[in-house]
Amino acid sequence: MYTTETLNVLRTLNSLEKELRGLSSGSEEAQLIERQMLVTSAQLPTSAQSFHDQFAIRGKPSVVSIAGSSCAGCHLKLPSGTLGELRAPGRFIVCPHCCIYIWSGENALEEIAAPKKRISRKRILAL
Ligand SMILES: [Zn+2]
Repeated sequence: MYTTETLNVLRTLNSLEKELRGLSSGSEEAQLIERQMLVTSAQLPTSAQSFHDQFAIRGKPSVVSIAGSSCAGCHLKLPSGTLGELRAPGRFIVCPHCCIYIWSGENALEEIAAPKKRISRKRILAL
């Protein structure tokens, strides 16, 4: 697990890469973003750079925000225990499905999806 600071640097790097994809390569603006990416990347420990590169090669971010009760990377629903860990703002966890880092966002999760109430079989038979 990386420090919160490292993960925030990864988030910055991801947003710079996203910005770069929207620019024409070789343009002055793109070169500026590329320089910012080099400076940002240099702040990361080598292991975090390697981790990031594994996703960047495939054009994917290394850190995503939570999307409802799912991972924004793989779109699979997260277990309730994992969601509980993301309750506090600014928390990071690793997605148990795709191993990407998930960020809880600026605000605490207002509501963790509660399991739907199930009517027991006995109760249905009694109706
Ligand atoms: Zn995932």
